[in-house]
Amino acid sequence: MTKIDLEPIDRVTAAIDAHHEKFADSPRSHLGASILGHHCDRWIWLSFRWAFREKIPGRLKRLFRRGHHEEDIITADLKAIGIDLRCTGRDQVRVDLGGHLGGSVDGIIEGGVPGAENTRHIAEYKTHGLKPFEDLVKKGVYESKPMHYAQMQLYMLGTKIKRALYVAVCKNDDRMYTERVKYDEEAAQQLLDRGKRLSTADRMPDPISTDPSWYQCKMCPAYDLCHETKLTKEVNCRTCAHVTAHEDGRWSCARWGADNILTEHQVQGCEAHVLHPDLVPWERRDSNSPYEAVYAKDGVEIRNGEGDAHVFTSKELVELGDACFTDLVREARRVFPDAKLEVKDVKGLPAESN
Ligand code: SF4
Ligand code: SF4
Repeated sequence: MTKIDLEPIDRVTAAIDAHHEKFADSPRSHLGASILGHHCDRWIWLSFRWAFREKIPGRLKRLFRRGHHEEDIITADLKAIGIDLRCTGRDQVRVDLGGHLGGSVDGIIEGGVPGAENTRHIAEYKTHGLKPFEDLVKKGVYESKPMHYAQMQLYMLGTKIKRALYVAVCKNDDRMYTERVKYDEEAAQQLLDRGKRLSTADRMPDPISTDPSWYQCKMCPAYDLCHETKLTKEVNCRTCAHVTAHEDGRWSCARWGADNILTEHQVQGCEAHVLHPDLVPWERRDSNSPYEAVYAKDGVEIRNGEGDAHVFTSKELVELGDACFTDLVREARRVFPDAKLEVKDVKGLPAESN
């Protein structure tokens, strides 16, 4: 019998994962209740500002999809035992928390929860791996899953429903854990205040730790930006020095006098983009143009704004980084004012310049 080489099987998996990785997730326009319980102010601000992009492997995307599919199964099980559950799946209620803040609640329970039959609840579903599930069972949601607890508090505040039913499923063995959570007005208000403060902050907040080896930083998707390169790779309106996030949920642009930039335009940004000074590692110096920033490194100054012979675009700066301060690249900028400089243009530069 001819042995079938196993390699094609790996190739199938790799192709499926690549298929999932091909589709970039659109960034979330609002500051979600689901992240307001995060331990780090800076991480929340950087996420909301679209300052880093988390590259999610195909396998993880498939895992998220599985968790998403689980929602229908949990809904069916809750209904099957007589819980009056509404507004699930495509009919989910969007909870508007004012300004930039909001989220979508998994379901609204009008009644029928065993032991609290006449009480309204919001429903929150989560799936967990074995270890986090066991930790949850041992410690409860407040201690084990503070972000989920915070999310429920904000949804209860937004819907004025005073109880939540947390439903967790273990992905390894289908065990379920449920917990009724009480509304805590003070905690919810503090979370809301935090969201308002961070969503409208012009400057990047302090990190949870300045120590790169801090345990909560090690796995953070913003680690490079925060502790290593300190240079964003993202050029969009939210990483631009001209933008302002307003309390009423608008994003305005000082460069073009736009009062409210639409989300789809925010994603694109424009050629006049200037990198936010907190998202670059360089010293900012005074500029004689309101439309350009001057950044300095080792005594060398460069300009950032609408590209020309003497000005680098933000896209060039994020791609070329420190190399923009070298004589060679500045000269290339001057000689080819209409060209877009890319990494391949600076290959061959001395290593310390690249
Ligand atoms: S690396 Fe640490 S300090 Fe920086 S955003 Fe992440 S958690 Fe916060
Ligand atoms: S200058 Fe361009 S990129 Fe910057 S905020 Fe205005 S529209 Fe967005």
